[in-house]
Amino acid sequence: MTGFSVRRGRRAGEGRQRLHGIAVVVAVATLSCATVLAMNRQAARTGGPPPGERPRNVVLLIGDGMGDSEITIARNYSVGAAGRLAMDSLPMTGAYTTYALQEAAPDKIEYVTDSAASGTGWATGHKTSNGRIATSAGSTDVAPLATILELAQRAGYRTGDVTTAELTDATPAVLASHVNSRTCQGPADMASCDAYRKEHGGPGSIAEQQIDHHVDVLLGGGRSRFAQRITGGPHTGLMVLDSARQQGYAIVSNAAALKQSPPGRRLLGLFNDGNMTLEWGGAAAAAFPGSGPQSCVEHRRELTGEPSLAEMTARALDLLGARFFLQVEGASIDKQDHEASPCQQIGETVAFDRAVKVALDFARTHPETLVIVTADHAHTSQIVPVPQPGDKVRPGLFSTLLTKDGSLMTINYATRAGEIQDHTGAQVRIAAQGPMAERVLGVTDQTDLFRTMAAAMGIDVKSQSSNPKAQIPSSR
Ligand SMILES: [Zn+2]
Repeated sequence: MTGFSVRRGRRAGEGRQRLHGIAVVVAVATLSCATVLAMNRQAARTGGPPPGERPRNVVLLIGDGMGDSEITIARNYSVGAAGRLAMDSLPMTGAYTTYALQEAAPDKIEYVTDSAASGTGWATGHKTSNGRIATSAGSTDVAPLATILELAQRAGYRTGDVTTAELTDATPAVLASHVNSRTCQGPADMASCDAYRKEHGGPGSIAEQQIDHHVDVLLGGGRSRFAQRITGGPHTGLMVLDSARQQGYAIVSNAAALKQSPPGRRLLGLFNDGNMTLEWGGAAAAAFPGSGPQSCVEHRRELTGEPSLAEMTARALDLLGARFFLQVEGASIDKQDHEASPCQQIGETVAFDRAVKVALDFARTHPETLVIVTADHAHTSQIVPVPQPGDKVRPGLFSTLLTKDGSLMTINYATRAGEIQDHTGAQVRIAAQGPMAERVLGVTDQTDLFRTMAAAMGIDVKSQSSNPKAQIPSSR
């Protein structure tokens, strides 16, 4: 059994739940007391709202590396400085801090986080060190931290995990796997994670764990990780893909098949061997005065056969229906910021914003849906003055773009010289609408998001927080 317990029914609305039960008994004389008590016992066992209340949903949309700067750049370019993106329309907006811990000294702060540590923050409610996936900083044992997806599953919620990166990349990984290094993505990638190997009694690589967790909808890139062969346990010698089939997954590999995917079955959609194809092209930033002025080129997605992030989000919402937890990641905002490629970065931000619109449209007809739009960490790109003749040489890489306003906007990348750019340590935006949305107001921390989402789903996590070394579910 698990090392932590969710105290079902012990939530802020418990009193309301009891009153609700009494009201039902009085009003509906034809229902026996025993039936009503059984219904309330059912609600108490599974968590979530009591019988008769609309089921609640949580849609968490993560723009990887999408700090305020990346949002402003995409807004200026695509809709103009006075325009508004879909993600700008959420009514509750706050900021949250994203720092990590040091692996060698877990009581000390690491001010610049990576996606693994920051994702672990909202997935588990615990800070960890860079590179770790839902495990504790400094631990040498197999020591998983329970995740919001696992808690949602146990409370009877359906679950989904969608990304434009490899599915085994850090942000999708933190929900449904536990491992000491984000590099351990497939069974053949386990060099840094010996204790987690299946042949050593561990839970295996990220790909194996995601399948073994029975997440209802898994969509993204990273097919090559799932084509690796399992090296321990009952499925030894099988590819992870075959293990997925044996565990009831339908597997699709292009946009057309995604549209036709069978409802009522687990779905694994792998649309690229690596990360999914970028939305836009353009010249990378260059030494002062930089590339451009340029306009970005929008790729024709239909040529790749891959679905867009918005299409994946829409299909996931269709399949999950009601009473679910879904995470959607726009992954390559970060990856193209690292590359100092402004058009690609903006194209991915715009594509992410289209996925936000899909979620907001869903929430219009499903008002008991908490929609959260946030990022995992800040990043390099900055809007700086347009280079002028006679300027002294300025540091870093530059590109000047012609925006929707008909004006020039210069983007600067200068956290590294001659290599890939770095994440930065500033707080990032968190915006929300729906039940519990007010909890994002003011300045919070990334780990608070874990408690906000749990509260929206009626899951009590007090006991979980006091027991960080939770065990992997024995049923997996
Ligand atoms: Zn990154």
